[in-house]
Amino acid sequence: MKLDLWFSEVHNDNIAFSVRVKDILFKGKSKYQEIAILDTYDFGRVLILDNTFQTTERDEFIYHELISHIPLFTHPNPKDVLVIGGGDGGTVREVLKHESVENVDFVELDEMVIEACKKYLPKLSCKIDDEKVNLIITDGIKYVAETDKKYDVIIVDCPDPVGPAKGLFEKEFYKNIFKCLKEDGLMVQQTESPLYDLELIKNIVNYLKEAGFKIIMPYLYPMPTYPSGMWSFTLASKKYNPLEVDEEHIKNKIKNMDTKYYDEKVHKGIFLATPKFLKEVVE
Ligand code: SAM
Repeated sequence: MKLDLWFSEVHNDNIAFSVRVKDILFKGKSKYQEIAILDTYDFGRVLILDNTFQTTERDEFIYHELISHIPLFTHPNPKDVLVIGGGDGGTVREVLKHESVENVDFVELDEMVIEACKKYLPKLSCKIDDEKVNLIITDGIKYVAETDKKYDVIIVDCPDPVGPAKGLFEKEFYKNIFKCLKEDGLMVQQTESPLYDLELIKNIVNYLKEAGFKIIMPYLYPMPTYPSGMWSFTLASKKYNPLEVDEEHIKNKIKNMDTKYYDEKVHKGIFLATPKFLKEVVE
């Protein structure tokens, strides 16, 4: 008998998103969260934390290319990069496509996520053991509060603002991120659905302004497996503006990077096409 298995992420009392499941590859409970990796019919292998979609083999390229290449091409010569969260390894994989990057400090809270993804999601986790990657298992909130290191680019690849990730969306965290960036540094964070969480994005933008960032630009992209399907990142920069990058420079470099979504036109176009209701949040 072939069982008809489905996984549903329930968004609220009236909305859920479901996928049909071929197999449950991993199920575990860490100190921080419940972890599952499922094999699904239409989205390939899928990482679920506390019943919430984190990433899928089918659509992960959209998220991981845009969280990495937008900041790394906005900075003219990124060498030292900090990635907070992102335990599946997709962001680290994209960051390492940049030859200028010499060191990636990868601060992830939950070792069980790393181990499960290394075993069951190798397409994403394939670069976690690269010699340029320095994996630090600790809380990113504590890390940025305590470290004296300064980075060119910080990427916050976080889940929803609940549980251990709540503090990754609070005022103090952004002040510490500012402190951990070099004088011309910049950061990008996963900032939820503009359709459902506009108030949260407004708060984030205000905290980033208070922290001292000069350039703050949310950007939008489709994410079929996240609530509402419309998702955002927010870039905050001390100096460099993503609209002022040299397109030829990106064009030359991207040729050898094997991207599926990102290119020099997307780099600027994604900001130029920011919808009015989201732009108003910053103004
Ligand atoms: N792309 C995903 C999304 O938008 O839902 C995020 C994926 S990644 C798996 C998120 C990671 O952040 C998880 O592995 C989780 O363990 C980690 N995390 C949560 N809170 C954290 C914290 N305070 N410090 C460092 N990592 C954290």
